[in-house]
Amino acid sequence: MILTGAASFAQLQSPEQFLGYRLGSRYTPHFNVVNYFRHVASNMPSQIKLEQYGTTNERRPLLLAYITSPENFPKLESIRVNNLRLAGQAEDKQPGDENAPAIVWLSYNVHGNETSSSESAMMMIYELVNPANSKTKEYLKNTVVILDPCINPDGRDRYVNWFNTVMGKTANPKVNTREHSEPWPGGRTNHYNFDLNRDWAWQAQIETQQRIVKYNQWLPQIHVDYHEQGINEPYYFAPGAEPFHEVITNWQREFQVTIGKNNAKYFDQNGWLFFTKERFDLFYPSYGDTYPIYKGAIGMTFEQGGGPRGGAAVINEDDDTLTLYDRLYHHFTTGISTIEISSLNALKLVQEFKKYYDKARTAPSSEFKAYVIKGEAGDNITRLKTLLDKNKIEWSYTNVGNYSGVNYFSGKSEAFKAEDNDMVVNANQPNGNLVKVLFERTSKLSDSITYDITAWSIPYVYGLKAYGLNSYVTAINKTEKQKTGTVSGMAEAGYIVKWNGLSSARFLVFLLNKKVRVRYAEQDFSTMGTEYKKGTLIITKTSNQSLGNNLRTIIEAAARNAGVDVAGVSSSFVDKGFDFGSGRVRTIKAPRVALLSGEGVSSLGMGEVWHFFEQQLDYPIDLININDLPRVNLKDYEVLIMPDGNYRFLSDKIQNEQLKQWVSAGGRIVAIENAVAQLSKAEWGMKLKETDEDGKEGKKDDKKDDKKDDRKDNRKEDYTALRRYENRERDEMVNYTPGSIYKIDLDNSHPLAFGYPDFYYTLKQDNNIYEFIKENGWNVGVLRKDAQVAGFVGTKLKNRLKDGTLFGVQEIGRGTVVYLSDNPLFRSFWENGKLLFCNAVFMTGQ
Ligand SMILES: [Zn+2]
Repeated sequence: MILTGAASFAQLQSPEQFLGYRLGSRYTPHFNVVNYFRHVASNMPSQIKLEQYGTTNERRPLLLAYITSPENFPKLESIRVNNLRLAGQAEDKQPGDENAPAIVWLSYNVHGNETSSSESAMMMIYELVNPANSKTKEYLKNTVVILDPCINPDGRDRYVNWFNTVMGKTANPKVNTREHSEPWPGGRTNHYNFDLNRDWAWQAQIETQQRIVKYNQWLPQIHVDYHEQGINEPYYFAPGAEPFHEVITNWQREFQVTIGKNNAKYFDQNGWLFFTKERFDLFYPSYGDTYPIYKGAIGMTFEQGGGPRGGAAVINEDDDTLTLYDRLYHHFTTGISTIEISSLNALKLVQEFKKYYDKARTAPSSEFKAYVIKGEAGDNITRLKTLLDKNKIEWSYTNVGNYSGVNYFSGKSEAFKAEDNDMVVNANQPNGNLVKVLFERTSKLSDSITYDITAWSIPYVYGLKAYGLNSYVTAINKTEKQKTGTVSGMAEAGYIVKWNGLSSARFLVFLLNKKVRVRYAEQDFSTMGTEYKKGTLIITKTSNQSLGNNLRTIIEAAARNAGVDVAGVSSSFVDKGFDFGSGRVRTIKAPRVALLSGEGVSSLGMGEVWHFFEQQLDYPIDLININDLPRVNLKDYEVLIMPDGNYRFLSDKIQNEQLKQWVSAGGRIVAIENAVAQLSKAEWGMKLKETDEDGKEGKKDDKKDDKKDDRKDNRKEDYTALRRYENRERDEMVNYTPGSIYKIDLDNSHPLAFGYPDFYYTLKQDNNIYEFIKENGWNVGVLRKDAQVAGFVGTKLKNRLKDGTLFGVQEIGRGTVVYLSDNPLFRSFWENGKLLFCNAVFMTGQ
């Protein structure tokens, strides 16, 4: 590009001029989307601020463009601060001025293979500042537009780079050709195969972590999350579908309709089809529409037909050819329409935004006014504080004293004593609605069909004892009381660390990585006046002599790194329990771990394990393609992890037998979710519980009662029991759980449950439950009856999910199989499951 001295707008190039092809005629790799944004920003410095807010796992830049009129532009920072004041979240605590521009935030391409939206982002940034466009000039007078051209660059490029290598001279619209069939794992997710549109509240992924920092600094009044759906679908825009969460205000509902009608006007002008009010509900708090809603915005999902099967052009079942240009132009149209209608209603939008936050601070609608969370041992409480901080939720420590409230674990109102390290979250705060959503015991669904899990109540997710109170609790300051990461005592004999959370596991793997020999106590013991539970880590000087004085240095570094407290002990003699030299104090051999990956394996399930090992534990893991398994020498591994998936090789007798032999010889399998069902089908020993529809086990006496009921029903025809056609979707729900919370009884004397009390709250996402293991194994996590705690479960399933095993351990020869039929690493947000998973990998079968 040749730079000349002409006026700045003379250099501004359209996307086509800059890229050398018409938008939509081919895909633009992420670096060129970035280049184009930089080009426009550098040519329009009086209207655009471009900011790199982060970097992805694969080192691609994450960008935000802030665009407004030349008059507003110098005041950008004061507009932002004023907006935070309106939300009661400015540091200076000053009141805000309602006479302010509305802020519209458009997020593109969160799902990497829903690619038309980043293409349309380039059209959008150009048209917002195109000197020839008089309409956008008008809109920007009272509006600030924030564009995120690509939330998920790694996923987008995975798709785009693949597509560009398989496309011929021009796009082939026939759907059976290879360019319409994306290879595993697909570009939807980020580098670690996480769905970034499920991660807004939890912020497990770095893209989200970096973006939410900016989001919370701006808090737009409008947020649109751009997506694509199947090639035979038309366009979907607001208003959203039921269930709406009850905290969603009338104004938020109303304005969704206003926006929808404005979009519809343009779609009707062009004869484009669309639908609204279906499928995309507003409930689960971690979406790109709900999270903004719980932060006071009109949050919306817009979906264009297309997605990965759309290629750059595709013939759909109506025999229409849907092109990439059509797709991006539809997205561009809803974007402009949304900015237009927001500009027309800017004052009202800002006023209602302020009202939303005023009400949250003064009159929260939650069941409880305050939540007290017991500051028990373990690091789940620390991790909870991090979650609250990331979401700008205010918390503090309680005053020591006597209170009463509803105990989340018992469901009963109880008196309790608040102690020094207990935390309090009051509901009357700017983010009170988000507090309500995250802490609610039972989520009220206005309709039972939802797209996602229905339960995420924080005390269960973190396994922390908590109380809901009917009055506010005076909070005290927030200075950390406990110093962690220290090593105390002389340690003539060795060191002790409690096994009670992810931090304990991080401490362990730090040492294993440094070749330190670590033991664990199989039984409770006490020494130097302190009681230690099963699973406690013991590092003796003996067996680590080769490290000499370095041992203490390594232990100190591990303690700092993991944030755990280490006690030095002067003697291997214990007051109660087994001495350190006992055979009941066992060595943890550092396992070499393999993870199955590739076609058939759930990319999400595989990604959760991969991310956990690399980003949370920092322990090496080998990813093995499932097709290579017959050629891999499994003797190089002690642990093989089978994530959720479909394992066809198990139906091959020889391969199935080879795997069993490896286990018999001492190998350990950790099977998760559907992998458990697959091993069960291949007759490894764990048996899926067969039940008939009503949840009665076929062979039991209950059957007789069934028959009796049947006869009774036969006598009088019950017309009310006949299904109505229009209710067919709802009828299917009786056998459905979209994800709800169950209480499991744990045998915490087994290493798989070390560090836990005798119960665990699990997120149940399927219908599977297993028969009790009768021999050569252990039923470590069992489901009794009436164990459902929160979330939606179909009525028929409710009867069925009881009296069986969900977490089991089977011993085969010298090896073991750990069956985790529920996923303890789900989206990396089910914090209390992480230690269980570490137990499966590092403790069980040692
Ligand atoms: Zn999507």
